[in-house]
Amino acid sequence: MESILVASQFDPDDIEFILSKRGRPLIKIGKYIYRKQSLSGVKTRWVCSTHGHKKCYAVLYTVEGEVVRTKNVHNH
Ligand SMILES: [Zn+2]
Repeated sequence: MESILVASQFDPDDIEFILSKRGRPLIKIGKYIYRKQSLSGVKTRWVCSTHGHKKCYAVLYTVEGEVVRTKNVHNH
């Protein structure tokens, strides 16, 4: 399977899969938290947790629990 990190500004070892206090899946990379947004086919799309109020469009995709693509660019 293709596994390319685009614009990787982080070490893949820094990626942490965590659960929120409400039990929702989150991904933590450094100081940023991503929350699960949608599923299309086998890909899960995750957006920065501040997506709503800060209009941050950093995004990443996972397939079967592995990060396959990221746009780890934040405006905050
Ligand atoms: Zn962000």
